[in-house]
Amino acid sequence: MTEQRCEDLDPGVPPCSHYIEGGFCTLGYRFRCVEWMKRNAPTLSYTTIADYTSCHRKFWWNQVKGLERIEKSWPLQLGSHASLILGRLHHRDHEKDCVDWYKDYITTAINQSVDPDIEDRQEGHEDLWAMMAIFDAYIAMDFHTLKGITEYEFHWNDPEYPRVHGFIDLLDLNTYDAAMGYEFKYSSKPDNYEQYIIEDQLCAYFISDLKIKSMTTRVFVPPMQRPKDNKKEGKESMVDFYDRVRKDVMRRATTQYFISKTYWRQEFDLENYKNKARRVSEEIIRYTEEGGIEPFYQNKRACLAPFKCDYYDICKYKVISDTLYRKKTPRVKQGVTP
Ligand code: SF4
Repeated sequence: MTEQRCEDLDPGVPPCSHYIEGGFCTLGYRFRCVEWMKRNAPTLSYTTIADYTSCHRKFWWNQVKGLERIEKSWPLQLGSHASLILGRLHHRDHEKDCVDWYKDYITTAINQSVDPDIEDRQEGHEDLWAMMAIFDAYIAMDFHTLKGITEYEFHWNDPEYPRVHGFIDLLDLNTYDAAMGYEFKYSSKPDNYEQYIIEDQLCAYFISDLKIKSMTTRVFVPPMQRPKDNKKEGKESMVDFYDRVRKDVMRRATTQYFISKTYWRQEFDLENYKNKARRVSEEIIRYTEEGGIEPFYQNKRACLAPFKCDYYDICKYKVISDTLYRKKTPRVKQGVTP
């Protein structure tokens, strides 16, 4: 195998006139400096490793080309709303104002989803009304009084392994066991987060901090109910739909809507996951040395399951549309030069 040199390399201003500190490139059609990538193990995250192992091309579009969708899919938008809400409700610094903040936030989201031109959107999106029913019940039952640090940032610092960086949804509880972490999901498929499937993610957390003894996953399951619509009574109003769902959440909270499971450090093979991260890092360097997109081959079984891949439109139509995609902003930091 011969190493391919970047065809845009211009050593006029060493290491290259297009180079940005931290391993990035100023050229519009590039993102990462591939010369830098050949010489520096990439900093990975649990998500990057998962994306890379599901389809190498996802890694290429996301990390090498730095592309992201301008508009997230609806399930991802709902997940982002839930993540922001939980980040605020459980953070110890927002004990007093978190509920007021949440009420403003969810009301604004519902109002912004109103579309007078669409029949079903006159009062806002039903999924957001359902989300409000879920979190109102969550607060009414005092689940939100568990406080700690949300979006807790971690780094692996083991010289034998690649750098891995990430965030834990909730850690450092101040109410009782500080060694217990939480991972929140908003999903209609709680089975997607059983131990075997979520193992890699939890391993990344356990490796990051020796003090974490257990991680609890809590899946918020949106209701199956939809607004009623029958000839006699017409369509159910969103307020009635909200009331109906909220009552059901209050009745079946922990059996149907907030599914929690706790896992302990000893249950996982952490060395196995560390080795996986190292192999991924070594492969990325090797494929980058080969040059170009080709080594980052596709796995089309990952295009539509479990969700439609963000890069489906690029792979399928072989066009990068400016209206669908934008280039990410590099998180520039002072670092090693190529
Ligand atoms: S659309 Fe399919 S082939 Fe393309 S990056 Fe996504 S999973 Fe891979």
